[in-house]
Amino acid sequence: MLLREVGYARPATVEDAVSLLASHDGARPLAGGQTIVNVMKARAAAPDVLVDLADLHELRAIGFSSDGLLEIGAMVTYTQLMGSSEVEVARPILAEVASTIADVQVRNRGTVGGNVCVSDPTNHLPPLLVALGATFTIRGSAGERTVPADEFFLGVYMTAVAEGELLTKVSVPPSSGAGDGFAGVTIGRHGTYIVDAAAAVSGDDVRIALGCVAATPVRATAMEERLTGNDLSEESVRSAADGLGASLDPPSDVHGSADYRRHLAEVSAVRAVLQAAGRRKEK
Ligand SMILES: Cc1cc2nc3c(=O)[nH]c(=O)nc-3n(C[C@H](O)[C@H](O)[C@H](O)COP(=O)(O)OP(=O)(O)OC[C@H]3O[C@@H](n4cnc5c(N)ncnc54)[C@H](O)[C@@H]3O)c2cc1C
Repeated sequence: MLLREVGYARPATVEDAVSLLASHDGARPLAGGQTIVNVMKARAAAPDVLVDLADLHELRAIGFSSDGLLEIGAMVTYTQLMGSSEVEVARPILAEVASTIADVQVRNRGTVGGNVCVSDPTNHLPPLLVALGATFTIRGSAGERTVPADEFFLGVYMTAVAEGELLTKVSVPPSSGAGDGFAGVTIGRHGTYIVDAAAAVSGDDVRIALGCVAATPVRATAMEERLTGNDLSEESVRSAADGLGASLDPPSDVHGSADYRRHLAEVSAVRAVLQAAGRRKEK
């Protein structure tokens, strides 16, 4: 289907992008276009103006902040993540997971900012960034603010980025010996997940986030508490996951019933934690 007529702007600076977004009701950022263009073709969204972020080179950078956080610009593509030496040093799980998203075309165009701002419950990055304890920097006409991952995802297609605002970067703590894991079951190879789980294990601290079981990533806090300070043997991780499925209220659809998703949530969380525990540098 052809797109409905839409205004188009291609600002040269982040300030111009923010002022365009703030001054037009119905203006939306255009990043890789892998979701928004399809949604517009399906007439599920009809922005009046697309503010193309393609020329905002500062949003394409990957680097480190003065306090050692890995900083990923909102316009960094999955392909860039996969080839980044900074990501490899600080948090290689990001490259690993990015390499499993869809296909080469989507990985070349799709961006970190688009992936999280669309807040699709089946997207790979939201649960991973929650488990890693990332923070999100949002710029608007009133200035800049930082939002932790646990508060960023508000619902399907809804995040802490308000109308007129722009996500500029995602900051991820360096692993410092932590181990990270990601596991789940996809509809097909390189496909969308039916359920996934991400885990980060650092010293005594365990963070686990589940994807595809609710509108936004779900922290498995009871399982985290049971594991914190305990040994991460297969037996104790399995026992900590007991009851996790029953605490969830996942959807039922053509790909899996709610009960099947509850089961997958337990299996995926166990696999993600064991993978993360096995990758820790300090033991
Ligand atoms: C065939 C296919 C299969 C896919 N499979 C998967 C998959 O398995 N896993 C997965 O994770 N993803 C998958 N995707 C989605 C893909 O990852 C998209 O790239 C992603 O959802 C959106 O990123 P984008 O850069 O293309 O954003 P766009 O489509 O350009 O934008 C998406 C939304 O985010 C907003 N936005 C973008 N950037 C910003 C910003 N900086 N600040 C504020 N708002 C912003 C836009 O206004 C829009 O509403 C798939 C896509 C396709 C086409």
